[in-house]
Amino acid sequence: MLNVGWLSREHDYQKKETPEGLVKALAKLAENSVNVQRGMHFCELCPSFQVARENTSWNDTFIGSGEIHVTSSRGVTYAAPAMIVHYVDSHSYSPPEDFCTAALQIYRSLE
Ligand SMILES: [Zn+2]
Repeated sequence: MLNVGWLSREHDYQKKETPEGLVKALAKLAENSVNVQRGMHFCELCPSFQVARENTSWNDTFIGSGEIHVTSSRGVTYAAPAMIVHYVDSHSYSPPEDFCTAALQIYRSLE
């Protein structure tokens, strides 16, 4: 299993355009996140703690804990924080292409 999207303000990350529908797909996958812990994970990239606290949810989906696991057609399973929804949506994070493709494929298979 490979980790994807565990961002910190202390490290740069890839920013570029992401495939259309990726945020929506990740948000859908976050509805069934795994490894949900007690407590919350706050975004370190938001300008203030107040803003980060408001971003522990994306629309009605709680993203302040838990992980999204996706397996690509290459057979690689990725573990991303549910917060990746917010990272892509608000901080222009661009996850690896294989992860994006897998997330979109799984999302489409749920529709
Ligand atoms: Zn943020």
